[in-house]
Amino acid sequence: MAKAHRGAGILDQVGRGRGTCPICKRTGIKLFYEREANEKKVMVCKQCDAALKNGHLQDALKAL
Ligand SMILES: [Zn+2]
Repeated sequence: MAKAHRGAGILDQVGRGRGTCPICKRTGIKLFYEREANEKKVMVCKQCDAALKNGHLQDALKAL
């Protein structure tokens, strides 16, 4: 889907697609990236998703 994370399409989501990232604790950030943390799904921000892909922040994810 085009621009699934931008524009009018996110306005009907909970909190307009925004919230507090459980890893970096940024508030009001868009949370569109689903990650496994201790067998549950958490939504993380773009920056944390990228960091996790690169092998960073694994400890922070496990600590959730
Ligand atoms: Zn984050």
